[in-house]
Amino acid sequence: MVQNTVIAAGDNTVMAEKTDIVSQFRCQQCNAPYPLGADDVIATCPYCGYTFEVGGDEIASHLIQKNQLSTKKVVELTKTWLEFAADKTVGKGIMKDIKIGKPVLQWIPTFKVDAFCSKYHLGGKKIKRGNEKVWKKIEGSENTRENEWVLARRHAASFGIREFIGTLDNAEIHDFSIDLTDNFPVLNAEIVIDDAERRAHLLKTRRERDQLKEEMDELFDYRLTMDIKNCDYIHVPYWLVRYNYRNGTFRVAISGSTAEVVLGELPVTKQYRIKKWAISLGMLIISALSMQALPYSVFLIALGDGDSDAWIIPLIIAAIGIMTFVAAVVLVANVLKYEIQVDADGEEREEESDLPLTLKDIGGFF
Ligand SMILES: [Zn+2]
Repeated sequence: MVQNTVIAAGDNTVMAEKTDIVSQFRCQQCNAPYPLGADDVIATCPYCGYTFEVGGDEIASHLIQKNQLSTKKVVELTKTWLEFAADKTVGKGIMKDIKIGKPVLQWIPTFKVDAFCSKYHLGGKKIKRGNEKVWKKIEGSENTRENEWVLARRHAASFGIREFIGTLDNAEIHDFSIDLTDNFPVLNAEIVIDDAERRAHLLKTRRERDQLKEEMDELFDYRLTMDIKNCDYIHVPYWLVRYNYRNGTFRVAISGSTAEVVLGELPVTKQYRIKKWAISLGMLIISALSMQALPYSVFLIALGDGDSDAWIIPLIIAAIGIMTFVAAVVLVANVLKYEIQVDADGEEREEESDLPLTLKDIGGFF
């Protein structure tokens, strides 16, 4: 079925920014020729929408979340969001130098894995009892029915795709029809259903372990069994907007399913830098003052009757000093970046680094 005329095509889609080896293919249903990517395992005919496992049968249940936005609407939405997000972070002043490019819609393949989940966790939290610290056992189990959305692509994930996938439970699902795709590219799946189920387990485990670790000091055991009831193949509309600010290009990702921005980049401006430097400087001053107060407080307590809990005061002062110092350093590091990432609510997203962790560890001491 797949002919031997292999051609190299520059795949200039957003999702796969690489050169794919593709083969020419002829649709089983409408006979139209179209190219197939080397890694495609489930393909959709761009002319009639016929969807099948490569080298196998038709996918019986193929679904779609409708796109709620036109190109024009996406530009308006981007502008509104940029104004809102810039006002909260880098300053509205950027708006006059922004040029929004033509938005691109891509239909992203996903699997919605619907399963009965049995979960168990065992961990511990350190609590203070008198002058000692003891472990408090935290144990729980739960049986629920849940969806886990899995991206059906193996290569380079697009900007904001994880945030987008996280919002998919909020939109309606319909039967797939090529007429619903507005002539925008329908990406093929690069993983099969069995892989999707394995990935769903992995993704859920990873996410829930991270959540549990936030709630306790040590997670000893976590177990998840998923009894899969259903796995649907669903195409979802992902919009990517690129805009220029002075000489740089920045991105905004929008969900066509819910007509919301899921993640955006904003340029770091002078105004933003000055604001952060000022806060950072304030923190350094607090830090220095606490460190200076330290010996005096120790001295005053030594003069006291030694019967009270006052010994904790210098410790608290020292902790404040160290924490504000670390926070100041983190802030300064952020200022040196070229752009920041901002979520749907206009909140700046924390970069994953070791410093905030250190901060949390020090905070956790009390
Ligand atoms: Zn066809």
